[in-house]
Amino acid sequence: MSQEVDVVVLGMGPGGEAVATQAAQAGLDVVAVDQHLVGGECPYYACIPSKMMIRAGNVLAETRRVSDLAGASTATPDWAPVAERIDVEATTGWNDQIAVDRLEDSGVTFVRGHGRLDGERTVTVDGETYVASKGVVLNTGTQPSVPPIPGLADTPYWTNRDVVKLKELPGSMIVIGGGAVGAELCQAFARFGVEVTLVEVADRILAVEEPEASKLITEAFGSEGIQVLVGVEISQVEYADGHFSLTLDEQTLRADKLLVAAGRRTNLADIGLETVGLDPGAKSLDTDVRMRAGEGLWAIGDITGKGAFTHVSMYQAAIAARDILGEEGVEADYRAVPRVTFTDPEVGSVGLTEQQARDAGISVRIGVAQVPSSARGWIHKAGNEGFIKLIEDADRQVLVGAASAGPHGGEVLSALAVAVHAAVPTSTLRSMIYAYPTFHRGIEDALNALD
Ligand SMILES: Cc1cc2nc3c(=O)[nH]c(=O)nc-3n(C[C@H](O)[C@H](O)[C@H](O)COP(=O)(O)OP(=O)(O)OC[C@H]3O[C@@H](n4cnc5c(N)ncnc54)[C@H](O)[C@@H]3O)c2cc1C
Repeated sequence: MSQEVDVVVLGMGPGGEAVATQAAQAGLDVVAVDQHLVGGECPYYACIPSKMMIRAGNVLAETRRVSDLAGASTATPDWAPVAERIDVEATTGWNDQIAVDRLEDSGVTFVRGHGRLDGERTVTVDGETYVASKGVVLNTGTQPSVPPIPGLADTPYWTNRDVVKLKELPGSMIVIGGGAVGAELCQAFARFGVEVTLVEVADRILAVEEPEASKLITEAFGSEGIQVLVGVEISQVEYADGHFSLTLDEQTLRADKLLVAAGRRTNLADIGLETVGLDPGAKSLDTDVRMRAGEGLWAIGDITGKGAFTHVSMYQAAIAARDILGEEGVEADYRAVPRVTFTDPEVGSVGLTEQQARDAGISVRIGVAQVPSSARGWIHKAGNEGFIKLIEDADRQVLVGAASAGPHGGEVLSALAVAVHAAVPTSTLRSMIYAYPTFHRGIEDALNALD
């Protein structure tokens, strides 16, 4: 059986849902395919449940700061409200009926099953073939990547998909991977009393961020009792009698549970890329500025390798939808991709890091301001650690990157993202008025420090 439609969207991550909806609302005949949950990783296993955990952990951390500022307080951590909130409010028991209804109400035909390309503009799902006159949008996303450490595969390790379903917490946990996901989760669990050890193979955690951010978060973790081990090789993982043990270079770590947060692997191997002349072994798909990956083929989201973030997926979805609908002149621009690691302090960044700017041959000037030295940081006191770092192209006198770490660091980032995105001259940034005493007023201090 073969059905003729206008567009097939394969994978209903956040961007897939958006592009399918936009195309259907514009009057196209759209089939959307997902083998699991409409909405993808973000609402069920990633952004939303993890931020609910973090919000709860941050509330506990604030109660521990009361003694510095407002008397005395005790809090008894309880995971039950977090588990309940994730189950009921975020995921409705990992059931996507609400999302499916929303999709179908917008005119999309939803098909649940594993989809594969079967030549140009053609997708098969469980024996059914859909031929799309306009083309196919790929949004198949990622899955947790599990490093080939001897013994690991045979153990009952957890990934993000397991920890969001926890009803109670273990006494101790080792987290492999000090990127954003590992860092966020390990701090949330530690704040609920789990004894956490974070193990990172690189020589610093948050290795894609500024070194100042790695130092800041390592110190914050240390002050909360999280053991951070960097630059270590794990030679063996074992599981016996309900405990994990990890053999490192010079020591053995033991814990009740093991969370693997060692990056993501794109779901490209089994979607029939070879039937359209593309490499099924590729780590990501190359796209042009209109998100086209081939003839009648678009790719969006994590599989494009342009930043594994929901906001990138949504941004690309809008571009793909406009291209499908025939709009001219729509082009993706990744100069100002913002990202936030929702640790406490939060680490926000946009554009290039200092090192990336130097590697690109840009004549760089750096300006750094420390949050505790600003009026607001000083007032804030407990938990005020952080910095604002600006990376200026000294020849063009515009910011090409910035980092904002500290309380509400991700929110302070918004002004910096505008500056990088719109290439606002630093003279213009210097001439504006920054409200007193805000955290974002630190941007003015960092501008004055540009050197
Ligand atoms: C713990 C964690 C926390 C995160 N926090 C944030 C955050 O705070 N902010 C942020 O911006 N990003 C965050 N991310 C990243 C974010 O989840 C992803 O960038 C986002 O989900 C976009 O992914 P996507 O649309 O590319 O695909 P995904 O969300 O991975 O969805 C892909 C979909 O395709 C389906 N699929 C795959 N192959 C097939 C097939 N062959 N047939 C049918 N269906 C298929 C899958 O079932 C899935 O539903 C986080 C990630 C993790 C792991």
